[in-house]
Amino acid sequence: MKLHPALAPFLFSAAVAVATAATPAPKKKAADPTPELPPASATAVYEPVPVVVSAPPSAAPSDAVVLFDGKNLDAWITTKPDGGPAPWKLEGDAMVCVPKSGNIRTRQAFGDIQLHLEFRTPAVVSGEGQGRGNSGVFFMGIYELQILDSYNNPTYVNGQAGSIYKQYAPLVNASRPPGEWQSYDVVWVAPRFGPDGKVTRPARMTVFHNGVLVQHDAVLKGNTPNRGYPAYKAHADRLPLSLQDHNNTIAFRNIWVRELKLPAE
Ligand code: MG
Repeated sequence: MKLHPALAPFLFSAAVAVATAATPAPKKKAADPTPELPPASATAVYEPVPVVVSAPPSAAPSDAVVLFDGKNLDAWITTKPDGGPAPWKLEGDAMVCVPKSGNIRTRQAFGDIQLHLEFRTPAVVSGEGQGRGNSGVFFMGIYELQILDSYNNPTYVNGQAGSIYKQYAPLVNASRPPGEWQSYDVVWVAPRFGPDGKVTRPARMTVFHNGVLVQHDAVLKGNTPNRGYPAYKAHADRLPLSLQDHNNTIAFRNIWVRELKLPAE
């Protein structure tokens, strides 16, 4: 292609402009405003690499121990000395407490855990106060996180839903109406005992009720009796989790735990 001679100057200046843009003048390095600090690389840590856990929506994480997924009660037995099968019943995808059949516990024992559990108090309200929709999660079979229908149901506050029974009231009341599914997400740190049987580090509990923080790193004073005062009595590092039969037809579903390996303190 032949160019018209009149275009030549324009082409020449365009070429100069491109060349100028492609070779910017070298930048002056800005002075370090904090020369007393080490380079950023000095505080970057690359090992150990955290284990990969897949966490699909609405399902247990890949490293969870599933304790109830709607299929059967195989992970549970009675707390009665005979150790027989869990006397509660399967209804749809839920596990339902049979009043007066007794508490149930996991076959497996646990120490420090993250727990997810969903519960539903009866849609038809009967009773009041502690008699209405009562159950509980006993960590290590000893320390109770209260389950109660606390929707417009006054009772002593350290015994309402989300309380660490007779020790700590929940920070707020996040209860849903009777008959609706609710959730607890808990971080449980087991107590530690010395060789003399005395507690060296009390148990601690953090609880989200329906996604709302209701206990923040609460330091337990001991067990959770109805009468008397909390106290520690040395026990094994790992013990089964139990659920309370308090004579109400509470339903449960989607129960899983993750065993935690927390950093040493
Ligand atoms: Mg209870």
